[in-house]
Amino acid sequence: MILVTGGAGFIGSNFVLDWLAQHDESIVNLDKLTYAGNLENLRSLEGEARHIFVHGDIGDSTLVSRLLAEHQPRAVLNFAAESHVDRSILGPGAFIETNVVGTLNLLEAVRAHWSALPADGQAAFRFLHVSTDEVYGTLGPGDPAFAETHRYEPNSPYSASKAASDHLVRAWHHTYGLPVLTTNCSNNYGPFHFPEKLIPLIIVNALAGQPLPVYGDGQQIRDWLYVKDHCSAIRRVLEAGTVGDTYNVGGWNEKANIDIVRGVCALLDELRPRADGKPYAAQITFVKDRPGHDRRYAIDARKLEKELGWKPAETFETGIRKTVEWYLTNPEWVEHVQSGAYREWLGQQYGHR
Ligand code: NAD
Repeated sequence: MILVTGGAGFIGSNFVLDWLAQHDESIVNLDKLTYAGNLENLRSLEGEARHIFVHGDIGDSTLVSRLLAEHQPRAVLNFAAESHVDRSILGPGAFIETNVVGTLNLLEAVRAHWSALPADGQAAFRFLHVSTDEVYGTLGPGDPAFAETHRYEPNSPYSASKAASDHLVRAWHHTYGLPVLTTNCSNNYGPFHFPEKLIPLIIVNALAGQPLPVYGDGQQIRDWLYVKDHCSAIRRVLEAGTVGDTYNVGGWNEKANIDIVRGVCALLDELRPRADGKPYAAQITFVKDRPGHDRRYAIDARKLEKELGWKPAETFETGIRKTVEWYLTNPEWVEHVQSGAYREWLGQQYGHR
């Protein structure tokens, strides 16, 4: 049994689905179901006894302690977070509440549980914290990619809150001996991505005939990884990572935002041409840049590749094609997310909102 937090979000739900497809081991999935949590992502698991969903907050130590005592998981994987940079600029409080205070409360509940385990249980236990490359700040054009030794220089309320949580996790290992692992991953894309983030936003807006907003000059560079490859990296780190270490996860796919947008438009032109025959790129609209917008992120994933033998299965070209095809074949998911209908469905299914 493992305990996953945030398993109804974008990466967490992909992780839960992949895990249950590949392992016999059960999952307890603790999620607060914020606007970003969507049980429709897990609809294919209805009736699956190995998936136990619990609606709740990582900051609720009483609840977390009860789950740990009841299910005795061998590992806790923390995906739960407020994750959208733009929202963190408008309202940083929720980011501190969940990403910092929530992680603190989670760590404390896990520490109390872990301390009471017999020695062999303590040695086998893992707390894996899922984090981001944004904690490292921004790179100049010729700078080497972020290695695990790069110093933390977070620039947004989101990345500052994630950096704080990484430091707490590190300290709980050094101070209390909790067997932790941390992964810092680049930008993910793939199925079940909430359409407030760049790639799904572009797909959804393009199909709806809406403008395709691009910040500033569109030359901000990000490193992109297909979400299923992030999930395989997390599984590998959980299995074989050195306790106390951090692992950078990335796909060696540095792309400028404008090139991502043009690439998605070109795929849509091929797979679902506009009725008027014009290219989707005609809908691109440059908008005022985000304040404090980091210019470039790039991940050096060599430690994970060399020490643990992990490799991504997808190239950017294969992954982005799968992603666009997924959105084209799942219009119902997109429609429900946009209309908020999934929240009603959730109330019907689980008796809460
Ligand atoms: P997401 O916003 O899609 O999902 C977050 C999930 O956490 C949601 O299901 C939400 O309901 C849940 N949640 C939020 N607050 C909670 C709380 N207090 N208690 C319990 N559950 C709570 O995020 P995501 O993109 O899936 O990211 C997952 C993790 O991966 C985050 O920690 C994020 O920082 C990290 N990460 C994301 C990316 C990316 O590109 N999306 C890249 C690297 C790292």
